[in-house]
Amino acid sequence: MNKFAETLYDSYGQEFRIDELLFESKTEHQQLVIFHNAAFRRVMALDGIVQTTEKDEFIYHEMLTHVPVFAHGNPKNILIVGGGDGGMLREVVKHQTITRITQVEIDGQVIEMCKKYLPGHSQGAFDDPRVNIIIDDGLNFVINTKEKFDIIISDSTDPIGPGKAIFTADFYSACKKCLNQGGILVTQNGVPFMQIDEVKTTAARLAPLFKDCHFYGASVPTYIGGMMAFAWAADDVNLRHTGIDVIRERYKTSRIKTRYYNPEIHFCSFALPQYLLEAIGKT
Ligand code: SAM
Repeated sequence: MNKFAETLYDSYGQEFRIDELLFESKTEHQQLVIFHNAAFRRVMALDGIVQTTEKDEFIYHEMLTHVPVFAHGNPKNILIVGGGDGGMLREVVKHQTITRITQVEIDGQVIEMCKKYLPGHSQGAFDDPRVNIIIDDGLNFVINTKEKFDIIISDSTDPIGPGKAIFTADFYSACKKCLNQGGILVTQNGVPFMQIDEVKTTAARLAPLFKDCHFYGASVPTYIGGMMAFAWAADDVNLRHTGIDVIRERYKTSRIKTRYYNPEIHFCSFALPQYLLEAIGKT
């Protein structure tokens, strides 16, 4: 194999030249491939779908971490569901005010191989003393845990294979049960221009559970087809509207260095195009 052709869509797709194949194997849960490509550097794919690349991962990981953390203002206990490559963990541990981070990943081999072949993603974050890694299905974990979190970040695959469970109404309702008052749930929700049903389904499942359900976005080049959508669910309707001056102050005080995220991006990422507002019943 000297080319990787993504299989996400039937009639359209992206192809990468494999300059060096680093790892390829069937794990207990999915087909894992890691290769080097001259343009995107190291690329990790699961079941034929690109999950992350060294070149553009910062956009995705910064947006799923810093938007809810800065909007919340003082989160202490964070849950990451999925996220085996460690990029989300790297961004979360940057927040010194966070005291406990639990990550529930279904596939231990993704963590091990990403530590080995994509070390720039986690940058040692798996060894942070605040971090507790659990190998389990995210749905099973949120249903059974007695712990409460200030923010839950779902860094999942697409709703195919093992990822399907963490897009269900049962998952969202269990997340709601284990969020503290003032808590926020954010989830990766695909590329709405290509996967509009994913956004519609998530909106329909979250709306009965949370007082404020919306989406925000960012363009991540390897998630092809336009802007990616992140779902936002909270009971405190004010959090999404936290003023830009407050966000600027929190960002400055944190001294966190980002490459994509900044307070202006934060604020504007909640502005959605009309077709998307229509799909989620907000026109
Ligand atoms: N950023 C990527 C994207 O949007 O394409 C996804 C990142 S990838 C790290 C997602 C991770 O979710 C994988 O490591 C996968 O093993 C994990 N995962 C999938 N289903 C899961 C489940 N039910 N519970 C916990 N983790 C799951």
